[in-house]
Amino acid sequence: MLPDKAVMNYSRFFTAVSAARKPSPIRIITELQQRSPPSVISLAGGAPNPDTFPFHSATVKVKNGASIVLDETTMKRALQYSASSGIPELLSWMKTLQRNLHNPPTASNSVAGGQMDICVTTGSQEGLSKTFEMLVTPGDNVLLDAPTYSGTLAALQPLGCNIINVPSDQFGMIPGALREILSRWDPADAKKPGSTVPRVLYTIPNGGNPTGASMTAERKADVYQLAREYDFLIIEDDPYYFLQFQKPWAPTFLSMDVDGRVIRTDSFSKILSSGLRIGFVTGPKPLVDRVVLHIQASTMHTSTFTQLMVSQLLHGWGQEGFLNHVDGVVEFYRKQRDAMLSSADRWLKDLADWHTPAAGMFLWIRLKGVADTQRLISEKALEKEVLLIPGGVFNIDSSAPSPFVRAAFSLSTPEQIDEAFKRLASLIKEAL
Ligand code: PMP
Ligand code: PLP
Repeated sequence: MLPDKAVMNYSRFFTAVSAARKPSPIRIITELQQRSPPSVISLAGGAPNPDTFPFHSATVKVKNGASIVLDETTMKRALQYSASSGIPELLSWMKTLQRNLHNPPTASNSVAGGQMDICVTTGSQEGLSKTFEMLVTPGDNVLLDAPTYSGTLAALQPLGCNIINVPSDQFGMIPGALREILSRWDPADAKKPGSTVPRVLYTIPNGGNPTGASMTAERKADVYQLAREYDFLIIEDDPYYFLQFQKPWAPTFLSMDVDGRVIRTDSFSKILSSGLRIGFVTGPKPLVDRVVLHIQASTMHTSTFTQLMVSQLLHGWGQEGFLNHVDGVVEFYRKQRDAMLSSADRWLKDLADWHTPAAGMFLWIRLKGVADTQRLISEKALEKEVLLIPGGVFNIDSSAPSPFVRAAFSLSTPEQIDEAFKRLASLIKEAL
């Protein structure tokens, strides 16, 4: 344990743009108005009159036979501006879930210099890109384990940072390799102005996109220890947390965060809907606050209609109902994964190798004797009527050759997966 002097000072982490953000005065009054009693007459907000909107009410049928009803009054709220951090009933439901799943020490630990907070984002991608824009200044050294999600690279690389690749394997980032990289710096320099010690580490801890890798609890604890030593923040991008095939689910970085240095993005994309665009940022309040200021100045808030619909579903289910639904989703993907693994065994055994993913929806396949899959996929695969993502797109330098392909087992039937691998096998044989 580090002594109390480890109280977090977040100001050194913020970019000049993020530090310059100020609350939007109109947003503050809009949020105040929503919390005030009906007797208050507000001429303050610039909200349009929902009586002029063409939508009246909505009923959404849920697969279990229940219905979500947005009556005329609720619908008016659903069609109106709402708080930038999210609607209160969705936030409170989610706060309870986060407490129960992660029990973040920062929630009740004043040593961390701030409480845990949470905000709704339009998918976790919005939370991620805003987090990067809050923390990454041009020239910064940023740590991550590539190959990684191309959406992360798309959000990070234009910020002009120097991405340092931390070696990884099927259990994710390797702490010893991270320690080796960090040994270039003196931890005592971390807080000095102009220091080049990395201030941010990003990782996908479960069912990594594209590798399918999942980090063990021991590795997370070791990486967290290094974060304390070198005083950097950890961005935990965990959209496949709920798609872990093994129980109990692995402890998260958030659950280990005694200092307030973990900012976590969650996503409902893989369990409720990807198109509705609902995600969450959970972390120390000073960091979440900056993300919300950015939301105020950009999208204003995630669709109120979407939030109300999701919130009603979750309140109707309760946490147990939600976790039961998640169990059903996990069982579906487990079957899909197993079908893909047996088709891979059938067709690709001598042509490729792979690790069994413990979470998520991807199989990361290394093709033997193929130096780069880019040409194979972009030129030849369509002729054979099989599509995969060439591994290069997940590299920091996307033009560097990669012998890997990413295969998703989410959408195709086991029969289609089998046929696809048969086609891939003949494609590889022709290329050899
Ligand atoms: N521009 C101007 C001039 C506005 O008045 C507003 C809304 N008050 C906006 C942009 C934002 O509109 P939207 O709700 O479509 O994001
Ligand atoms: N992070 C990772 C690792 C992903 O794989 C994805 C989606 O593919 C996202 C974030 C974005 O998720 P969302 O739909 O919640 O924006």
